[in-house]
Amino acid sequence: MLSYCQRPGSGTGACKTMEPPGSCQSCRQAVTASRLQYRRGDTIVHNHALLQCDICERYACAECLRVYNIYSGYDFLCHECARELEQARVKGGGH
Ligand SMILES: [Zn+2]
Ligand SMILES: [Zn+2]
Repeated sequence: MLSYCQRPGSGTGACKTMEPPGSCQSCRQAVTASRLQYRRGDTIVHNHALLQCDICERYACAECLRVYNIYSGYDFLCHECARELEQARVKGGGH
């Protein structure tokens, strides 16, 4: 799968892997419990940490990251990536 150890020279030995930051990487706001309630259809998913956008791989809070039904069932996409994806779909005219 994806590797997050791609910064040779910048580390001091310890490789920081997949540790969600304490603030949203999209809106830069500190994460609170209410920002970890991700909507998935009609249900709300409570999460203990930030989720990652499937495309740009930024960790985003619930306000920036929504669960979109785009590919199969659900995908985690931030607003920016979802908008770009939908525009690309419209331009492409479906399949
Ligand atoms: Zn955010
Ligand atoms: Zn994104």
